[in-house]
This record gives sequence, structure tokens and C-alpha cells, in this order.
Amino acid sequence: MAMSYKAQQDNVGLIRKIRRGINGLGRKCHCCICGKRFMRFSTYRGGWDAVSSYLKQLDWTGSDFDHFWCPFCRSHDRERHLKLYFDALNFWDKFKGATVLHIAPEKHIALCIESCQPKRYLKGDIVPAREGVEVMDVTAIPEADNTFDFVLCNHVLEHVPDDRKALSEIFRVLKPGGVAILQTPYAPELRYTRERDPSISTEAQRLEFYGQEDHIRLYGIDLLDRILESGFDLQLKKHSAVLPEVDSAVAGVNSAEPLFVARKH
Ligand SMILES: [Zn+2]
Repeated sequence: MAMSYKAQQDNVGLIRKIRRGINGLGRKCHCCICGKRFMRFSTYRGGWDAVSSYLKQLDWTGSDFDHFWCPFCRSHDRERHLKLYFDALNFWDKFKGATVLHIAPEKHIALCIESCQPKRYLKGDIVPAREGVEVMDVTAIPEADNTFDFVLCNHVLEHVPDDRKALSEIFRVLKPGGVAILQTPYAPELRYTRERDPSISTEAQRLEFYGQEDHIRLYGIDLLDRILESGFDLQLKKHSAVLPEVDSAVAGVNSAEPLFVARKH
């Protein structure tokens, strides 16, 4: 007799619980979001081995596919890396009493920011997936000039057709002296951003050359120029400089990913 959908889900949940229980017997890895220790983080879609040779040869830098999900809180590597960078740079103190705009907000980072009691914390997404997130197009932010002390826009630009407009909008709504965090996957060994390539049209091709089916470009090192051209002063803070004691496999983060700190003067 065929198993009901509910029974199948119960089985999946049970298997996941057993796996997590066994994983929790280990102590090697540590999640900075939930504080749990365990044997290993979960991989993302087959891990780094499954990434195309084209992207590998360009040193494509983004998520850590080998140490992606925390088995307990389901935080992903990008959230953990931001948490560690913000811890080390005392960002949390700066959010207290500040005005903050968070585009496509990461769940765990959003909770951390809320706990800092910002004066105003606006969350927006083109297609909100959670309650409390407003419908917002990053290329037409419905806010006045010079409104925010901080804008967080992480792993968004690679999805946005007019990313220059998005950058100019973020710049516009930031107060002078305000800071934008602009984490974005990019290929340091690629001189010019690859986009609008007519030979890359299928999902399989976008996965191979852009890194994900819904990415519409592969940023090269000229990503930095693109941010600077929008008016920002840009600092790339390296993991090795800010987090020299943090082992990427233990913390489940990609140590090749710098923190993009863009400031409006
Ligand atoms: Zn966790």
C-alpha cells in the first residue's frame, strides 16, 4: 500500500533527526549562530566537487558549498560568515539606534539585528518569503534620499538585471557616512563581468557559467569598479585579516569571501 504524504514526511523527519543525532556526537564543527557543536556541516548540491571546472579555474568565490547548512539551525555559510565578521568588527553595537535597510534579509542575521534595537529596521524583498518583509524592488527603493545608516544587500546583485541602478539606489538612500554591506559571488580571475551572453540561455548553462540557474551574470574583478562607479568608497576586508583564528571548515564559512564594506562619503 502506498504511503501517505504525511507518513512519508514523518519518515523523512525521523531520518533527519537520526542523522542529526549522530552528527551531534561530533565536536569538530561549531555553528556561531546556534552555538551547537557537531561532526560536519551539510554540503550544498554536491559540494565544491559539483561546481563546473570553468568556475573553479576562475577562483569563483561565493558560498562554501562544502560547509553550507548547519544541521541544527539551518543557517547557511553566508550568514555565519557575516555574523563572525560583524562580531569581529563590532557591527552589532553600531546597529543600536540606527536606521537599517536589509534587502532579501537572511533569517538569522535579521534576528541578530532586531536584538540590537535599531531605531528603524526595514526589510524588503522583490518576492517576500516571510512575514515582516515588505515588497521592494532594489532598483526603485521607495525611501527618501539619505535615510539609512546601514544597507545590507547580500547575494542579491547577481540576480538583478539592472545592478548599476540597484547600486545607485542603495547609494541614494544611505546617509552620508552610511555603510552598505554588498556580499556578492564573483570570480577574481575574470577581468570583465560576463553577462548578456547569448550563448548562455538555458538553466544548465547558467549553472555552469554563472554558478546558479537564477544568476544572470558572472561578476569578474570589475565588480569592484562597478561599486566604485556608483559613488562608494569600497573596502574589502579579508577573512585572513579580520578572522585569522577562524578555521573555515570548523566554522563552516568560505575564507576566500571578503567582507564588502561600501561607504558613502
Ligand atoms: Zn546552527
